[in-house]
Amino acid sequence: MKKLISSLLLLAVSVAVLAQVEKKEYTAFIGETTVEHQGSYTPSFKVDGSNAKIRNVILMIGDGMGLAAVNAGMYANGGELTLTNLRSFGFVRTQSANNFITDSAASGTAYACGIKTNNNFLGMDPDQNSVPNLPEKLEPLGFVCGVVSSDDMNGATPASFFAHQNHRNKTPQIWADLANAHLAFASAGSMPVFDKQSEETRNAILGKFTLVDKLEDVKGMAAPVLFLPPSVQLADRGNYLPATTREAIEFLSAQKGSKGFFLMVEGARIDKEEHSNNCAGFVREMLDFDKAVEEAIRFAEKDGHTLVIISADHETGGVALRGGRPADGYIQTAFAATGHTAITVPVYTYGPKSDQFRCYLENSDVSNKIFELLTAK
Ligand SMILES: [Zn+2]
Repeated sequence: MKKLISSLLLLAVSVAVLAQVEKKEYTAFIGETTVEHQGSYTPSFKVDGSNAKIRNVILMIGDGMGLAAVNAGMYANGGELTLTNLRSFGFVRTQSANNFITDSAASGTAYACGIKTNNNFLGMDPDQNSVPNLPEKLEPLGFVCGVVSSDDMNGATPASFFAHQNHRNKTPQIWADLANAHLAFASAGSMPVFDKQSEETRNAILGKFTLVDKLEDVKGMAAPVLFLPPSVQLADRGNYLPATTREAIEFLSAQKGSKGFFLMVEGARIDKEEHSNNCAGFVREMLDFDKAVEEAIRFAEKDGHTLVIISADHETGGVALRGGRPADGYIQTAFAATGHTAITVPVYTYGPKSDQFRCYLENSDVSNKIFELLTAK
């Protein structure tokens, strides 16, 4: 009897300990911020959902931009974002080939190459065969392509559009792959990171691209151009992301004789701030990304043959909204995780055939649809 009582007691204690561990893991971190209102842009919607031929696609990836991140940005900005002024939206499933919760490499590869692969893989299928990315498929067909990111160039999302490596941490190999990129315009962080690469890699990259360290120098340059800013940290980079997005669009659309362009723009640091459960950080990054979205939508509005697709590679932080006062730019969020989560992410579209994304899609479907729409007769 004594033995039974002590076993029961032990069981009760272990259940209590387990419950506590469980509870601890899911204890939400709470953050709050107040931001200055930056306004938003509402297009006319004349070209939205039209049947016009698509010549250009701008794919914008908010790294870690789940629905709650969009909402936090929207409410902190007085209830508006250019992103949420759009009228076509759907949802994207982000699972990778080997994990219910994807990382940016597998999801970036899905967006770039149209396949599901394992976490950490870049431009390779689960058997480690290289798979062509959109620039590699589109350039031979007469399109010019570009990549802009507020991450380092070797970051998983930009790297998915030019590298083929079996691990995202192979930084020197990824930079070496840049010399073989099918990109007419590339910009990401940063000059100091480039300077750290081997002489062989730097020479190979310089043999391919004209390297500039100022955005003003891009205009009038012959493609391909590589613009490396001194830093991509929010505190240092100013309006790097929206300004480089605008310049990349101008540069690519000015390329004579091309059939059109494909541009990928990544707001990379929403994710990084969510990993550290920093409410003020991810909301500022969200608003910066929205300024880049505005650049793309303004161009699509003018052009009439450009489809803009804005989505995310995955959610990060399990962000929830706990409170807010939109009129004061105040928002309070909670975080259920410090890593990525599995929930579907929103996809917003503007331009011809934008209605084709009003559904649940796989991240890999988005890539295949881009190829299909750009190459349709
Ligand atoms: Zn992440």
